[in-house]
Amino acid sequence: MLIAQDKVVLIHYTLKNDAGEVLDSSSGGDALAYLHGQGNIIPGLEKALEGRQAGDKLNVKVDPAEGYGERDAKLQQQVPRRQFGGANVQPGMQFHAQTSQGHTRVVTVTRVVGDMVTVDGNHPLAGENLHFEVEIAEVRDATEEELAHGHVHGPGGHHHHGDHDH
Ligand code: ZN
Repeated sequence: MLIAQDKVVLIHYTLKNDAGEVLDSSSGGDALAYLHGQGNIIPGLEKALEGRQAGDKLNVKVDPAEGYGERDAKLQQQVPRRQFGGANVQPGMQFHAQTSQGHTRVVTVTRVVGDMVTVDGNHPLAGENLHFEVEIAEVRDATEEELAHGHVHGPGGHHHHGDHDH
């Protein structure tokens, strides 16, 4: 079965940056399961997997435009430490922040100087070239429930706890 729109795809992958450092890997764990054509994974990787099949191995280089986007300097801002409610704020910590549009965004603390905390709302991999080594483990049809939800259920996919709220 070839990878096409609305197929469930399970992949093992290793992600490295330009320097060859491993940023993420599925090795030693479940394969990553995603629903093809639904934007579950970054566009560059999804495009490269189109038309492939189980057993295929491929190396995929994804530039920022097809990955996590370019870094946006406007997403960096300084926030008074008191807004963190007494937390011992340290670089590397992540918080959920409300944007002016009312969306929730994960921000990473990049600097703490005196009472000012610099947070960065860019994805940690924004601006990076991504080098994936991928092995396709399985390709199957999606269930109706998976199609309705827009994501995969079961091993490597979403686990629902309690109510479905999406
Ligand atoms: Zn679901």
